[in-house]
Amino acid sequence: MRTLPALLLSATLSLGSFSAGLAQNPPSSTTALTLDAKLKSDLVRLGGHMMIEGQAYEYDRHLADDIGPRLTGSANYVKAVAWAEGEFKRLGLANVHRESWEIPATWEPETLATARIIAPHEQRLHLESEGWSPSTPAGGVRGEVYYLDELSADAVKARADKIKDKIVLMDGPSVMAHIDEGFGKLFDALNLLAGDGAKALVLGFGTTNDAPNFIGYTNFTGSLANIPTGNLGQEDTLLLKRMLERGPVEIEFSFTNRIRRNVQVQNVIADVPGRESNGEYVIVAGHLDSWHPGTGAQDNGTGAATVLAVAQAVKASGLTPRRTMRFILFGGEEEGLLGSIHYAREHAADAAKCAGVFVTDSGGEPPKGWLVFGRKDEANALGVLKPYLEEVGAAGTSNDGEYTFSTDEAPFLVQGVPSFVLWTETEKYETLHHKPSDTFDKVNQRDLNLGAAVVGMTAFAFADAPESLKHLSTAELENQLKDIKALTQYKDMQDHKLF
Ligand SMILES: [Zn+2]
Repeated sequence: MRTLPALLLSATLSLGSFSAGLAQNPPSSTTALTLDAKLKSDLVRLGGHMMIEGQAYEYDRHLADDIGPRLTGSANYVKAVAWAEGEFKRLGLANVHRESWEIPATWEPETLATARIIAPHEQRLHLESEGWSPSTPAGGVRGEVYYLDELSADAVKARADKIKDKIVLMDGPSVMAHIDEGFGKLFDALNLLAGDGAKALVLGFGTTNDAPNFIGYTNFTGSLANIPTGNLGQEDTLLLKRMLERGPVEIEFSFTNRIRRNVQVQNVIADVPGRESNGEYVIVAGHLDSWHPGTGAQDNGTGAATVLAVAQAVKASGLTPRRTMRFILFGGEEEGLLGSIHYAREHAADAAKCAGVFVTDSGGEPPKGWLVFGRKDEANALGVLKPYLEEVGAAGTSNDGEYTFSTDEAPFLVQGVPSFVLWTETEKYETLHHKPSDTFDKVNQRDLNLGAAVVGMTAFAFADAPESLKHLSTAELENQLKDIKALTQYKDMQDHKLF
């Protein structure tokens, strides 16, 4: 899950293909699901299996501890792809395969960064390279700091003389000043800094000096930042801001990153075929990639593990749903939903047959229900599942639009496909994800099983019920996004060809 400042810094996609799925309603569209006696007993069986014999915890342990951090395209990511593909085959799923897409650059830190204040006094700084930053030039970057208090193209242009030859510092308030105008406009502003002659950029979005928040600066395309970009600890950021109130501050920093250009990255796909051969399917998905400072146990080891655990539970319970259940592990989520956007674009012609997309990406804390992004028919359909979801404490729905474009349901949602993101507690998640502390010791087996049971039971019900929800027309989609205050963001993303 990419939170707001996260989304800021992180896409060259064509809009045309995305509209292909819109307004092609399956004939049986409805706002409710019918659960017959067989489906009811299947849900109990599946939920029971997932609570008692569910494998999510062990899958997450393997991803986090045995494979480790999984930066998109890295050797560990490739290992995770091979393992997941092998596991889907071992479980006996059908149509197990990889689908490749190209990322403009892969990125991994090569050396530990060094950073210090030079003047007015000397002091070590807690700084690392931001994701998808180029290496600093030989000898590092050195210069006076300029705090940019608001990030917008106008603000950057108006301050061009102050930015020239400086190391530009920004933090949460800088970004939040114009967040409502859309992420694309923020990228435009960021990309202007180099033209104004900024030597480098330093971002202070962490919670402490020891907890940097890695967000990447990939323009939502997986391309590199156009100037060296550091990720600075929070106390250090606040210190620099206070020092700047008293006079000029000079800093230097240095790091080397391992960068490879134009790399093929793979999504992993596997099916439990449906018993009816009408081509309809549901998608259960999450991203396999992670940031590097921790091991991505929560973000998104828990989500990837949930996808595998639902597949395992459906097979082990001997269930065959009406529609195909398609399990997908995406890459490139952290760089701008790149894997899911690739999949949605490539399979746009089949989107009309997709009865629902169920994504997990907010960690393994107790589930509360589903994010339904303002779709009343989704909330209504989930109401039928209340007796089952209540048993695992997750019969709620949320229309919060803040996270609409934060994870891999978004490319499907904008095609009008019924899209759901698991809604969980996020108190711990917010302090862990994208940070060194995102490790397996924070994962609670029972809580993770509860979330996986919610995903399994819900996705199975939508795969098996005779009815399916409608697909939204363009006008209906825009009304939906307007209701949840996500339309400006969507329009901005369309303007920037992100969708
Ligand atoms: Zn995530």
